[in-house]
Amino acid sequence: MRPRRIASMKQDRKSAVRELQVLSVHKISPHYRRITLGGEKLLGFPADETGGYIKLLFEDSISQLPLLRTYTIRNTRIDQLEIDVDFVLHEDGGPASLWAEQTEVGAIIKVGGPGPKKLVDLNADWFLLAGDMTALPAICVNLEQLPEDAQGHVLLEVPSEQDIQPITMPSDMAIEWIINPQPGQNPDLLVDAVKAIPWRTGIPGIWSACEFKAMKELRKYYMKERGIDRKQFYISSYWKHGVSEDEHKLVKQNDAKIQTGS
Ligand SMILES: Cc1cc2nc3c(=O)[nH]c(=O)nc-3n(C[C@H](O)[C@H](O)[C@H](O)COP(=O)(O)OP(=O)(O)OC[C@H]3O[C@@H](n4cnc5c(N)ncnc54)[C@H](O)[C@@H]3O)c2cc1C
Repeated sequence: MRPRRIASMKQDRKSAVRELQVLSVHKISPHYRRITLGGEKLLGFPADETGGYIKLLFEDSISQLPLLRTYTIRNTRIDQLEIDVDFVLHEDGGPASLWAEQTEVGAIIKVGGPGPKKLVDLNADWFLLAGDMTALPAICVNLEQLPEDAQGHVLLEVPSEQDIQPITMPSDMAIEWIINPQPGQNPDLLVDAVKAIPWRTGIPGIWSACEFKAMKELRKYYMKERGIDRKQFYISSYWKHGVSEDEHKLVKQNDAKIQTGS
């Protein structure tokens, strides 16, 4: 049988839905779980999409309609037919977080994608990478691409001190961990930490992803207070406090219309 296609993903050869197997489950920290997915159905998956996104396919228990949840490919070992995905375990539930908490080796999950990775501009004079735990996989992939002599700042919001983890990055990048025990409820914690870094001279390479409210504040800061053109930095909201990814998607579409004035 031909693989089914996810309607909302771009219609290209990459958007076939694959049934991947859970190969291992590893608790990284209290709120963070790495799940290795793979098996023969990963054959043909692009080798160079580490940092790109996949869509995990769940089903609404009442309507039985498909529910898509977006996750970053943290590592790809295509020769071994494996990818790693790091899941935030959050208290608000949601099918993806619950699945990540409960799944076991051998379980099957439907996965669409990959979609393209978004990398910071490597030609920048210095770098600013900021985000919460949902963006940690993408930020780690970005840090791994930076030149050895890269300078700048990494700001990472996590729910507890126990979620702080070793990160591989160039030695002149400074890292700051921000503890927010109530993710989504104190957007200023991350925003204020970003505002507090010493702004350097030269062109900054900015990459930020976090909860919607914090994203809006950061975007405003970069554009209004730092005068950076919207096209010159990457920012995205990865989730929105109090709403599911389905509703967040609509909020994002509306926000994009307001931003472009369309
Ligand atoms: C491009 C992209 C890449 C992403 N990569 C990752 C990744 O690698 N790892 C990862 O963990 N997440 C990642 N996310 C975020 C993830 O898609 C959302 O957190 C998603 O809402 C989780 O789905 P769910 O089914 O658990 O919860 P949903 O059903 O979407 O939401 C249920 C409730 O949980 C709340 N909620 C959702 N996420 C969080 C959270 N992180 N903390 C606290 N409350 C939350 C919602 O506000 C809602 O109230 C990514 C998002 C995007 C757009």
